[in-house]
Amino acid sequence: MKVLVINAGSSSLKYQLIQTDTGEVLAKGLCERIGIGGSKLTYKPTGKGKYETQKDMKDHTEAISMVIRALSDPETGVVRSMDEIDAVGHRLVHGGEAFSEAALITDEMLRVLEALCELAPLHNPANLMGIRACQTIMPNVPMVGVFDTAFHQTMPPEAFLYGLPYEAYTDLQVRRYGFHGISHSFISQEAIAKLDKPAEETRVITCHLGNGSSMSAIKGGKSVDNSMGFTPLPGVTMGTRCGDIDPAIVIYLMDKLNLDTVGINAYLNKQCGVQGISGVSSDFRDLWTAAEEGNRRAELALRIFAYHVKRYIGAYAAVLGGVDAIVFSAGVGENDSGIRALAMEGLEYLGVDMDYKRNETLPRGEEGEISKPGSKVKVFVIPTDEELVIAKETARLAAK
Ligand code: AMP
Repeated sequence: MKVLVINAGSSSLKYQLIQTDTGEVLAKGLCERIGIGGSKLTYKPTGKGKYETQKDMKDHTEAISMVIRALSDPETGVVRSMDEIDAVGHRLVHGGEAFSEAALITDEMLRVLEALCELAPLHNPANLMGIRACQTIMPNVPMVGVFDTAFHQTMPPEAFLYGLPYEAYTDLQVRRYGFHGISHSFISQEAIAKLDKPAEETRVITCHLGNGSSMSAIKGGKSVDNSMGFTPLPGVTMGTRCGDIDPAIVIYLMDKLNLDTVGINAYLNKQCGVQGISGVSSDFRDLWTAAEEGNRRAELALRIFAYHVKRYIGAYAAVLGGVDAIVFSAGVGENDSGIRALAMEGLEYLGVDMDYKRNETLPRGEEGEISKPGSKVKVFVIPTDEELVIAKETARLAAK
């Protein structure tokens, strides 16, 4: 099946066309600055060059129609016509408590997603625009929604409830939802397949460390905790997001910096994390360069980030009653051996016996084991592939 995977943001839209039986990516691309002028489409068919088209896209519907034109272009396209696209899979950020797995997009789902916009004001409205655009351009193609929150719906109440009045949960839906579920699900399954143990007895800690980062405790293949919460803001500190902080800091900063709710939201999401600590960059490559040049704050940012990862490993080892595998993934987890080494240092008491040489020499972006062969806790680097998961889930549901 050929599945078009769509990840729609408020002014951007990422896409990949995937042949699901082989997992081959036929083409991928990005529409940027949708609705804000100066829009462009970048399109890269596999094995060919990269093409860029500058043309204003006033909304997501225009963006999707440009994507379809690029995919079916007689010279640079990868399909003869739109009819070759069998299904569309949408990455959806927030499914609340309504979705514990991927589902076919129906009018009922759209109503639920709309109601959930309040919980994910930055993401769900954009996801909905992506769906509506595809419905307009490809009305007869089946569509599937794959949620970032769904995998974490197995968390028990002690993990998902906050120390707030119970009514905040029952009346206002305030609870931990957890995010990056598509990735945590994929990398934990890959790790479980490598363990010499029945899947239902496995205890895995997954570290999805990228620009946004989250960690998960996974017992018998099911998520029992995730470091993100009601929103994707808490947990380990991130590129520009603050991660866990004392909630009273929010009130204090609003007062001292004279920020309203919009202002504090932007501050906590865009000016914090390793960017805020270092004052240098949110990109870990820049932080290592600056740290090597003697920038103390850049070094501190790296240490704080690795410390948070270690702190969650400790917490989740306790939650799981021991660990069989720790998995590193996403931009930082897959590429940054320095962060992996810092985070794993001193975990011998847990049964981790790291192969630091292997950690350092593992080719970037490649899958591999970075603990020694006899290590009680296996440490893996497993590249995540969220688009492939979405494509496969979409093919599975569309085939029904
Ligand atoms: P993601 O959100 O998963 O795409 O991850 C993006 C982040 O990965 C970037 O902001 C970088 O900080 C980090 N990253 C990518 N490549 C490397 C690398 N070679 N070394 C260290 N960090 C990297």
